[in-house]
Amino acid sequence: MSVNLPVEAYEVSLVSHGGSQFWLERTTSGKELVVSGADDSTLAAFDGRQEGEVFRAEASPENARALRGTLPWLKPRLWGLETSAGTGDRLGLCTPGHARAFDAVGGVNPVFAQQSTREMGRTHRTPRNVLDDATWGTFEAGWTGGVGADADHQKTEESLSECAEAGFVFYTIDPGDGMDMDAHEADDEATVRRKAAGLDFSSVDTTLEDLASRYVGTSIDLESGRLVLDEESVYRAIAKAGPAITRGVELIRHVDSLGVEREYEFAIDETDKPTTAVEHAIIVSELNRLGVDIVSFAPRWVGQFEKGVEYIGSREALRADFRQHAELARALGPYKLSLHSGSDKFSIYPAFAEETRGVCHLKTAGTSWVEALRVVARHDPALLREVLALSLESFEENRHSYHLSCDPTRIPANPADGQMDQLITDLDSRQVMHVGYGAVLEQFGDRIKDILRANEEELYGVIRDHFVAHLEPFARH
Ligand SMILES: [Zn+2]
Repeated sequence: MSVNLPVEAYEVSLVSHGGSQFWLERTTSGKELVVSGADDSTLAAFDGRQEGEVFRAEASPENARALRGTLPWLKPRLWGLETSAGTGDRLGLCTPGHARAFDAVGGVNPVFAQQSTREMGRTHRTPRNVLDDATWGTFEAGWTGGVGADADHQKTEESLSECAEAGFVFYTIDPGDGMDMDAHEADDEATVRRKAAGLDFSSVDTTLEDLASRYVGTSIDLESGRLVLDEESVYRAIAKAGPAITRGVELIRHVDSLGVEREYEFAIDETDKPTTAVEHAIIVSELNRLGVDIVSFAPRWVGQFEKGVEYIGSREALRADFRQHAELARALGPYKLSLHSGSDKFSIYPAFAEETRGVCHLKTAGTSWVEALRVVARHDPALLREVLALSLESFEENRHSYHLSCDPTRIPANPADGQMDQLITDLDSRQVMHVGYGAVLEQFGDRIKDILRANEEELYGVIRDHFVAHLEPFARH
């Protein structure tokens, strides 16, 4: 390309499309899109100004949308069954670091825009904000390999509509609140039967009797043997998962009615008890019966998946769980299996990638936030001390939403400046800050973002290295 970029330009952002050149530049007040050699009809989509040879446009939400419409690789696309990973970014500043990791590793497809409604509420972001930030970050990094966009953990029609309007294409349908954990645990069959009998399946055109007759006594041939759906386990699965099936289908029908490009993940990972093979089989078979095609399924795995730390539990038991669900996903689909709360669990990625044969999705949400704090720790240890103090203050409130094993009393009371980086690594302080993002961003968001922007090369490097370690086991498949 015959463009001499000024020093303010992000060199790697330079791309050519339709005979025009596009790149991003730093300005005193932020970042600007610069376009060279474009005709009026291309530029008409943008809100900007001609300055000499080039056209300049602010990195605004309107221009992000226009850029997605102009450069096709920035418009969220479906990944289907291809190996993919989601990199939730609560700050909206980490995408260039994520992109570098995907670029370094190769073979894994990115979902940069990914945030749940709960996280958007706590960070005061809208689906559009999330998508726009990811768009600018993708553009800045020069990533042209395509992007997904995950409307994560969706529980209401209203938020689904908002995400569709923004341009999300991957819908994580979460009817997990309807999963009945008492049905999982009940030790007498009468209770299970009574619970099942109390459910209304009219919205999914069936009855308990029909459900039972469709599954009781049937079996599914899996690679490692036959899964028999006996009467007891079928009724228990119906009692436990029945309400989630009906609610999930309602939410899916809603997205269907919006007429947008879409693919679905069915997620019941945020429940207390592991998803059994029979539940998995009945949920997916019922979705199939109703004509719903899922591209991904997120069961609740055995063991503990806590925020920001290694897997807790038996790795052999987890591998067996991966295998059974993966065999089901191949027999009933194929569709991907999805690993949520997937960050920092380096010991289990190889087994997950192997057992699913790479037909899988890795989802991380908060690890970029806590790793970004590493940059704050190095440049303003006093601010990180305040971040930690506020996270501790709000911890009792925050902990209810998450599975955590940290013990705040083990965190040093007066950490020295030189200790701050280590506090990002140590389990107790890491988890406390991991879940403290709502209150912390509310109070210190501007200061934190100023530090990260002033040290963005360092931020991108930290994020890149952290994600290369996450993605490498998946790239081999
Ligand atoms: Zn999840």
